Amino acid sequence: MREGPHSTDDINEEVGGDLFDRYFTGEHTITQVADRTWFVTADYVNLTAYETDVGLLLVDTGTAESGETVHELIRKQTDAPLHTVVFTHGHLDHAFGLKPWLEAGEKPRVIAHENVVRRFRTYQRTAPLNSHINSVQFGIAEGISWPRRSEEFTWPDTLYQDRLTLDLGGERFELYHAKGETDDATWVWAAGRNIVSSGDLMLGILPNCGNPQKVQRYPEEWADALEAIASVGADVLLPGHGKVIKGADVIRERCQVTAAALRAIVEQTLAGLNEGKIHEEILASIEIPEELAKHWYVDALYDRPEFIARNLIRKYGGWWNGYSAELMPAPMPQRAREIIELAGGVERLIARAKELKDSDPAMACHLAEWVALGAPESREAQECAIEVFEARAEDEIALMARGIYNHAVRRSEEAIERIEETQGS
Ligand SMILES: [Zn+2]
Repeated sequence: MREGPHSTDDINEEVGGDLFDRYFTGEHTITQVADRTWFVTADYVNLTAYETDVGLLLVDTGTAESGETVHELIRKQTDAPLHTVVFTHGHLDHAFGLKPWLEAGEKPRVIAHENVVRRFRTYQRTAPLNSHINSVQFGIAEGISWPRRSEEFTWPDTLYQDRLTLDLGGERFELYHAKGETDDATWVWAAGRNIVSSGDLMLGILPNCGNPQKVQRYPEEWADALEAIASVGADVLLPGHGKVIKGADVIRERCQVTAAALRAIVEQTLAGLNEGKIHEEILASIEIPEELAKHWYVDALYDRPEFIARNLIRKYGGWWNGYSAELMPAPMPQRAREIIELAGGVERLIARAKELKDSDPAMACHLAEWVALGAPESREAQECAIEVFEARAEDEIALMARGIYNHAVRRSEEAIERIEETQGS
């Protein structure tokens, strides 16, 4: 762990690697980015502490696990009492780190968009579902412990709808509601300091608004929010993940390019729907224009452009994918058994899957999934699925896709364990 604020000279450089390289520093750091303003990174999530004449304003609080460290880091810099907390949204990595502050006797006002409360109530009803989704998404086999009991949440005491102006010791902080990854987002404009705390509206990657497993995301509203952030002319942007961004021109360009990339996906998706194309035709045609895609900060490291298009299709259309048999389909394992039988046995499908693994990985995955589902008792079938999906995961840069391919690998590994148990008994 680093001690104290460190230099912020090299913060705008191109950041390479995958999502883990960019976010998961494994470090807890605190950086003074302006007078009485600190940017805190805990593992992979950031938050901002603004000291004012009436006390501290915290924008986000980190995770439940990192809350203690965040508290210590900030308390090494300032003794100002915690006056106000703003949650940029209600996700686990932003709104669950306040406990150590409260246990230390602080009594802050806690502000959030009104949908944060709705989100928390939904979390209480869907804890096992969210635990499962996140275990697939991040490849954590045993699942993630998800808050359920009321006391596991810090419930905001002050809610707003569109916009809220805070006066903290004569200094103005503007809270703006936005939708992006979530429907409960807030970004904060510290006008007197020329700083924006953006929460997860700016991430240094293609916005993650296409998640295959989660509720509706908001690509168009996300573009609106980025354009609004660009318009205030901040000198410093403090994102919810990734590095500080400095310089009004750099901030404006990143916001506008990212917004334009989202708008391109929206326009192409709507055009496809209006032309009467079926879903897979639309998805195959989605492409971010090269003059936007060339920027490292719109790399598709979390969601792919076609996942964002799928979210838009869900918003504007129905779920039927355009193939009539898919309306009320035969169960996939049954279809798989039929295909295996027609092919004259599982061996030919296994051989073909391996043959296509590099040249046509999408087709190879179909074949591998059919053999794994249609011949669950075959060790060779499960090994084929492991080989094909492992290769697909390795070639894939988008975290959401990798998580699902790795899930297929784990399912086949579990199937092999069951086969071995049967043989051993
Ligand atoms: Zn986040």
